[in-house]
Amino acid sequence: MINLVLFGPPGSGKGTQAEKLEEAFDLFHISTGDLLRTEIKNETPLGKKAKSYVEEGKLLPDELIVDMMDHTIQNHQDKEGFIFDGFPRTIAQAEALDQLLKKHQETVTEVLQLKVSEKELISRLLKRGETSGREDDQDEETIKKRIKEYEEKTAPVADYYKKDGKLVTVDGEGTVDEIFERLKGEIDKASV
Ligand code: AMP
Repeated sequence: MINLVLFGPPGSGKGTQAEKLEEAFDLFHISTGDLLRTEIKNETPLGKKAKSYVEEGKLLPDELIVDMMDHTIQNHQDKEGFIFDGFPRTIAQAEALDQLLKKHQETVTEVLQLKVSEKELISRLLKRGETSGREDDQDEETIKKRIKEYEEKTAPVADYYKKDGKLVTVDGEGTVDEIFERLKGEIDKASV
């Protein structure tokens, strides 16, 4: 199996690229943000807990996310692997992911980090907010809060994978197709 983590700040293009990679490599795409938005829309117990965190651009407590991921990984064992988008976002989540995959005799294959300047991130997110219907994309303060959460809690996760030699950094600026080709090139290199 190939288990990829797409890593990068909000607006770095993880979702867009994950959709393309999902198809190209027959992976199951798991976006924790999308899962949470569905839970919130359906007003499930998890959705009710998640709502204020997502609206304020803050990370949810690790236990809630890890529990949700445990079920999702368990229920999708029929593909060539997973592509994780928006997870792990803390060191504790990265450790938990190792344990969750271990239950299925699997490991993280590669972590692809998308590098995009902060100016470009804010402009992409505000633009997406015009059509996505996501309130957290419409307010510059919330966007900045999300980027701050990323820098404080998520960026250190890169070192966790760097130690294992699993981290690859890719230029996340350019056209969607250019970035896709860069990612695909790295995955092909890792899979030979
Ligand atoms: P995203 O769609 O990935 O930008 O996620 C939207 C929001 O969902 C984030 O701002 C967080 O509030 C929440 N969220 C998504 N993934 C995680 C995660 N792995 N850990 C904690 N909170 C998360």
